[in-house]
Amino acid sequence: MQPARGKRQSTSDASAHVGCALAGVPVARYIGRMAKGWTFQSLIDAKMTVTAFCHWSPCNHSQKLDLAKLRDKFGPDAPAMADDLIPRLKCNRCGGTAVGVIYTPDTSPNAYGKAKGS
Ligand SMILES: [Zn+2]
Repeated sequence: MQPARGKRQSTSDASAHVGCALAGVPVARYIGRMAKGWTFQSLIDAKMTVTAFCHWSPCNHSQKLDLAKLRDKFGPDAPAMADDLIPRLKCNRCGGTAVGVIYTPDTSPNAYGKAKGS
C-alpha cells in the first residue's frame, strides 16, 4: 500500500516580478494650470499680454497681440499656446515667419504707475 502522494502544491510562480515597471513613472506630470494650455479667453481673463516679436535681429519688430480680436476670430476656447500661435504669426514689418511670443502676466499694474506729472 502506497500512500497517495498528497496534492501537489502549485506554488504560484514568479508573477511578483513587476518591480521594474515603477522606475520610469513620471512623477511631475502636473506642472500647473498655466502650462496646461491657454485659450484666448483664459489669457484675457488672466490679464495676460502676449507680445509677438520677430527673431530676425535687423528687424526686431515686436507687437502686442490683440487678444480680443483673436478670440473673436478663433473662438474663446481656441488654444493660444505659443505652439498654436507661432505658426499663424508673421512679422508684419519684414514678413518673416521666425516669430516668437512672450506671455507677460499683468499682476502688478501699479509697478509702473503713471508718473504723476504736474
Ligand atoms: Zn520682422
